[in-house]
Amino acid sequence: KVIYKMIRSEKSQANERLELNLTRDVIGEVEEEVLEWRDKERKEIDQLKRMETYRREFVGNVSHELKTPIFNIQGYLDTLIDGGVYDGNINVAYLLKAAKNVDRLIAIVTDLDLITRHEAGQLNIVAIRFNILRLVEEVFESLEILAYENNIQLKIKEGCEQNTYVSADREKIHQVLINLVKNSIKYGQEGGTTWIGFYDMNKVVLIDVTDNGMGIDAKHLPRVFERFYRIDSSRSRKQGGSGLGLAIAKHIVEAHNQKIHVRSKLGIGTSFGFTLKKA
Ligand code: ATP
Ligand code: MG
Repeated sequence: KVIYKMIRSEKSQANERLELNLTRDVIGEVEEEVLEWRDKERKEIDQLKRMETYRREFVGNVSHELKTPIFNIQGYLDTLIDGGVYDGNINVAYLLKAAKNVDRLIAIVTDLDLITRHEAGQLNIVAIRFNILRLVEEVFESLEILAYENNIQLKIKEGCEQNTYVSADREKIHQVLINLVKNSIKYGQEGGTTWIGFYDMNKVVLIDVTDNGMGIDAKHLPRVFERFYRIDSSRSRKQGGSGLGLAIAKHIVEAHNQKIHVRSKLGIGTSFGFTLKKA
């Protein structure tokens, strides 16, 4: 009875008595139930431990990411307070730099908010029918200047110029494409090219973003979708990256019940592909 009191999560009825039916293997049954309970409990403890590690890492990563812009802002403001505000050579420039770091803080917090909401299951997908070719053209347009500055050409793959209709959340897929194309520019090679192609695969359309940039070493490949994971963090941070883009992209694609994957070869280039439901 004491053992049952320990392992049962529900309280038994007050009038429930432990009946000893000696034709059955009573001890064997109790042992079986206890073992079952132990396995269940162990799994729960394992999961809690995993979550704790994860939470600790997450909090560590977040504070690390926020530190850089906060210290920058502090530095600029302190200089201004210490008299820099009267120095015509730096006052406006430092204010602008401080403002830029505030933008960076906002961008990180917005990304974190999106990830958190997704994990709480609050990222609802509002699927509509739209032309993915048109969306890609919009994405190319908005990244035109960044591409130009990095001397990267953005192209629709030859033979993929036809209108292709998908059923998905247009706004969120826009965000996925922005990150993939932005990555292809940031981690591209001077004079390189990014191609986007569409492939009809029966029930889904595969959207493929390929670049001929620096590529990703095989040992990093399985981890690039992890939040805050950056291969060359100094290069990435210089480009204003916090390593959340691909984690968000994966969340969004998976919230559509679709898949995203990556193929890459160091020094040759990288391809990200994801599927969307055909409309
Ligand atoms: P954020 O997207 O949050 O601004 P980020 O671009 O650094 O920052 P992700 O988009 O998640 O973060 O990418 C993670 C890492 O994967 C990058 O830091 C980069 O090292 C690597 N990576 C991503 N795309 C490419 C690519 N096309 N070619 C080479 N490396 C890439
Ligand atoms: Mg990115």
